[in-house]
Amino acid sequence: MAGLLARARRDGLRLRVLGAGHSHSPLAATSGILLDLEAFSGLIRADPGRQRAVLFGGTRIFSIGPALFEHGLALVNQGDIDRQTLAGAVATGTHGTGLGLPSLSAAVVGARVVLADGRALDCDGDREPELFQALRLHLGAVGVVTRLTLAVRRAYRLRERLWLEPVRDLFERLPEHVAAHRHFELFWWPGRSRAVLKALDETEEAPRYPLGREGERLGLSYEVLPNHRPELHTEMEYAVPLERGPACFEAVWRRVTERHQSVSWPIQYRTVAGDDVWLSPAHGGPVATISLHQGISADEAPYFRDVEAILVEHGGRPHWGKVHHLGGGELAERLPRYRDWWRIRDRHDPEGLFLNEHLEALRPPGGADRER
Ligand SMILES: Cc1cc2nc3c(=O)[nH]c(=O)nc-3n(C[C@H](O)[C@H](O)[C@H](O)COP(=O)(O)OP(=O)(O)OC[C@H]3O[C@@H](n4cnc5c(N)ncnc54)[C@H](O)[C@@H]3O)c2cc1C
Repeated sequence: MAGLLARARRDGLRLRVLGAGHSHSPLAATSGILLDLEAFSGLIRADPGRQRAVLFGGTRIFSIGPALFEHGLALVNQGDIDRQTLAGAVATGTHGTGLGLPSLSAAVVGARVVLADGRALDCDGDREPELFQALRLHLGAVGVVTRLTLAVRRAYRLRERLWLEPVRDLFERLPEHVAAHRHFELFWWPGRSRAVLKALDETEEAPRYPLGREGERLGLSYEVLPNHRPELHTEMEYAVPLERGPACFEAVWRRVTERHQSVSWPIQYRTVAGDDVWLSPAHGGPVATISLHQGISADEAPYFRDVEAILVEHGGRPHWGKVHHLGGGELAERLPRYRDWWRIRDRHDPEGLFLNEHLEALRPPGGADRER
């Protein structure tokens, strides 16, 4: 790897690492070298006593559940699908839903990274603590992440339920639903009067195989949490402070009902626990996330931009792996450690080997060191 980085520097090429290519933002795009870490995959070791697991960065999420289960362990939470690589999901703060459940980035307690100068460094809260903080949500811009240590928990089972409720009732009832379940989310399709609500709760009941359809499953956490989403789409997602979630959802519902009834893709509402990860949309407190979807053959811009204004107005911070239109200045205003992240990134990669055009456009104006 050190040889490859030296060659890229010598030839004046930039380098991006490819995960599973599931981001909706052009994070991994490059005209330079695109590095595939598929060979860096699998569980390295698990420590059931300390509830820790060390994994290679290229490990696909779908292979983590079965590997941890052999040690009686599981991920604390997972996102809507499990096709991503671990380092790729951590790069963007990938999350599931659940009031007390943080993102994958917040579960990272240690990392091994190969830096622009070819050195491999291990870091955590004690060793290279600032580099560690920058790596917990790294946008692929700090180095090649070859290993991650995660806080995990004992294996558990989940039972899933789907039901319908009038969308107008939800503006008041959302906090109650969110508090009542380990995982709660809703999907509302523009033009429909009812939303689909989905809850998953821990159970001691024996798994039922075959698992059945979404909404009917009872099985191990990693069997029930991920879904099959074969239709290609693009997506925008913002996280707003939890207490503003219902009002924001109502404002989005109103705008979409007035102007975007023809969109045939759902709006999704989830929650994520607060954390201290520098670039995390949940930095400093719990959040509600609201995401808009659109098919890839449609022009999503008028729809996304119109609703984005509402999400931003409610204090929203964007998901790094999805579409947004904020610039570096707006991001620095919304994320208190944004400039720190750039400062540490630049310190370890002064020539910008791990940057691309998309990331350059997100650099805070006035430089990383300007006073916050
Ligand atoms: C159908 C679908 C469902 C989704 N569901 C959710 C969800 O439920 N919750 C959620 O939060 N997000 C969700 N996402 C977004 C997705 O989880 C993120 O975009 C995630 O980052 C994609 O991971 P990836 O492995 O595909 O990484 P890529 O998209 O390939 O890359 C993401 C970034 O990681 C970098 N990178 C990857 N590997 C490394 C490495 N080893 N070292 C350094 N940098 C690296 C890349 O350079 C890039 O900057 C979904 C996306 C899709 C398409």
